[in-house]
Amino acid sequence: MDLQFTEEQLLWKNKVRELMEHQVAPCPAEIDANEVFPEDIKELFAKNGLFRTVVQPEYGGLDGKLLTLCLVIEEINRFCSASSIVLGNQSLGAAPIVLWGNEEQRSKYLPGIASGELLASFSLTEPNAGSDVGAMTTRAVADGDDYVINGNKIFITHANVADVQTVFAKVNVDGKDRVTAFLVDKGTPGLSIGNKEKKMGFRGSSTVEVIFEDVRVSKSSMVGNIGDGFRIALDALDKGRIMVGGMATGLAQGALDAATAYVQERSSLARQQTIQFALADMETSIQASRALTHKAACKYDDKEKDHIRFSAMSKLFATDTAMTVTSSAVQVLGYDGFSKEYPVERYMRDAKIFTIFEGTNEVQRLVIARDLLEQK
Ligand SMILES: Cc1cc2nc3c(=O)[nH]c(=O)nc-3n(C[C@H](O)[C@H](O)[C@H](O)COP(=O)(O)OP(=O)(O)OC[C@H]3O[C@@H](n4cnc5c(N)ncnc54)[C@H](O)[C@@H]3O)c2cc1C
Repeated sequence: MDLQFTEEQLLWKNKVRELMEHQVAPCPAEIDANEVFPEDIKELFAKNGLFRTVVQPEYGGLDGKLLTLCLVIEEINRFCSASSIVLGNQSLGAAPIVLWGNEEQRSKYLPGIASGELLASFSLTEPNAGSDVGAMTTRAVADGDDYVINGNKIFITHANVADVQTVFAKVNVDGKDRVTAFLVDKGTPGLSIGNKEKKMGFRGSSTVEVIFEDVRVSKSSMVGNIGDGFRIALDALDKGRIMVGGMATGLAQGALDAATAYVQERSSLARQQTIQFALADMETSIQASRALTHKAACKYDDKEKDHIRFSAMSKLFATDTAMTVTSSAVQVLGYDGFSKEYPVERYMRDAKIFTIFEGTNEVQRLVIARDLLEQK
């Protein structure tokens, strides 16, 4: 496989870099401190067509390539994690419709998601069902032409601002529980938002509990068929993990940029071999993360058979790298690294979530090992 970017991909990458440098770079610390969903960033992204990267061209999207989304989101996360998750969560929230929606569902939601008029979220996790999705207790019961949903989800990104969310619930058929996906619109009676989490990082993104009390949705809101929910969630996450690889690579690059600029300002530090080695290790591992993430994205776009293993590997490697690199950046800056005067402490706090959401890194190792061992 020979990795080459199209002219359009490079144009978008540069456009987003400029947008972030000129319009967002001064704000991340403020967004982090405010702990409120950055509505102005959402508007900025909508105005500049960034949400088009998460939808296929037939519904107002760009080129429908995951590689393009990875290039764009890396540039965003280089400056601001809370901004990158505005786009990242739009991609995850839209994925069940993009990948599994029928024509009616796609034409109803995707043009609005591409323009930024609609926000989407992905409601899978429950109090006792994170990695173990099968333990979910949210239920949907058939009632005439409708389904009635009861249960609650936790740690759901942007569900408080989302216009539509994909909700995963169990439907009982002939005594067997089958995980099934439903699209639930904002304002549906019985749907409410509970606790908002106080978080270590990604503080500008809202992470909330979602409560379903006799939420009635029509049968036409089911994505796929009864029992497809597990596959739909996995397909969305396989795609999302490569995007997270891009986010983590961008965040690590931002931390290295900050550390390098700091060392350049202090010639006594620049002469220390330990500092030089730290920068060299950071640069090397970031380049490796980027290469693996781009390779995974190309395999995904080309529908290559091993894209699931590469998806898991890119998420695992890039997110572990983001942790190591941001920790090194704090170390290089010494007490300044620990201070909010500099961005690296924020990068380090933000990096941790990457090893947890969209499937923990332990789960990624299971996916990789299983794929290896199943090969003939
Ligand atoms: C900021 C944030 C945003 C989030 N956004 C969303 C969202 O938008 N939508 C959504 O649905 N969820 C979301 N989540 C939830 C996230 O996906 C879960 O936290 C994640 O799936 C892990 O589940 P858990 O936290 O229950 O951990 P657990 O599954 O309880 O795992 C705890 C530990 O045990 C390990 N472990 C568990 N099972 C295994 C196993 N079989 N083998 C090896 N190790 C294992 C894990 O790796 C982990 O280290 C978000 C979480 C956070 C923190």
